[in-house]
Amino acid sequence: MAGHAVVELTATHKPSRVTINIDLGANGKQYGYLTVPYSRNESAWGSIQVPVICIKHGIGPTVLFTGGSHGDEYEGPAALMNLARELDPAAVQGRVIIVPALNLPAVRAATRLSPIDGGNMNRIFPGRRDGSVTEMIADYVYSQLLPLTDVVVDLHSGGRSLDFVPSAVMHYLEDSAHFDRTLAAVRAFGAPLGLVLRELDSEGMLDTVVEELGKTFISTELGGSSTLTARNVQIAHTGVDNLLRHFAVLDGAPVPPEAFGRPPTRMMQTPDDTSYVIVEHDGIFEILADLGTEVTIGQPIGRVHDFNDPARPPALYHARRSGLVFSRHAMGLIKRGDCLAVIAVDWDD
Ligand code: CA
Repeated sequence: MAGHAVVELTATHKPSRVTINIDLGANGKQYGYLTVPYSRNESAWGSIQVPVICIKHGIGPTVLFTGGSHGDEYEGPAALMNLARELDPAAVQGRVIIVPALNLPAVRAATRLSPIDGGNMNRIFPGRRDGSVTEMIADYVYSQLLPLTDVVVDLHSGGRSLDFVPSAVMHYLEDSAHFDRTLAAVRAFGAPLGLVLRELDSEGMLDTVVEELGKTFISTELGGSSTLTARNVQIAHTGVDNLLRHFAVLDGAPVPPEAFGRPPTRMMQTPDDTSYVIVEHDGIFEILADLGTEVTIGQPIGRVHDFNDPARPPALYHARRSGLVFSRHAMGLIKRGDCLAVIAVDWDD
């Protein structure tokens, strides 16, 4: 057949080893799963089945929602399972793809990282088709789902080790149009805080690969301490609903926080590493400025007690800038190198 280009099949052209049992091109609501091959001692031909829901109708953008990227964060998975059940396909203009427990082995084990391969789902993108279970899932998202997707919403919270003032989160982006449309979506979410965040290390994050594709990426930090509160799940639920309204997948304007008896979203940022307080001692962590309180530069915000040596005064840690305690270490013990707290400052625009 003259005129047909011959495509050489190289390693990069091989299809993902992860398969899906629903048709993402079909209208209606479908519950299915991704099959990730996982051959092991107890199951020679075994696999892991990661739930996926697709709701498609009419004409509009594709929004991908992920939760459970870290297995000890529950606000996202709970809100996304509620969303999947409640969404009426007839009310949708576009397509909503939901993966509520992306790192399923970690969710099952209630751990941040996968117990199978130690994989941190949000440090492993773009993944590898011939990699570990975590890498194969990441590769599927990157190579199969992102090309279909206009907007990615990855719901995180603090997990076992951190707690946050519930926030919709984005990053500083070089392209101003990209930045502005992401900022508008963060505001539309309607969390107590909208945060423009500078990451300590953004390598391998889903955020980074989606942003590099020029697509809209919204993340969250919706609470933490590896538990759920009624308030935080409601913030997550109304937030994802608001994003679907904002992107016109659902009819109507986003519902502001005031309608739920909450104050309007406060826009804040962490402009540089002086927002982060990192400890240099091991011991028992005593917070001196609770989450959500205002602190001034130099104010003591936490101390670390050496339980082996009660005669030694605790190591004192101070705010490195004035602002709001947006995040804190959530566990009673703290180790050298841990993040004690993050201070956010108001966003001026
Ligand atoms: Ca997380």
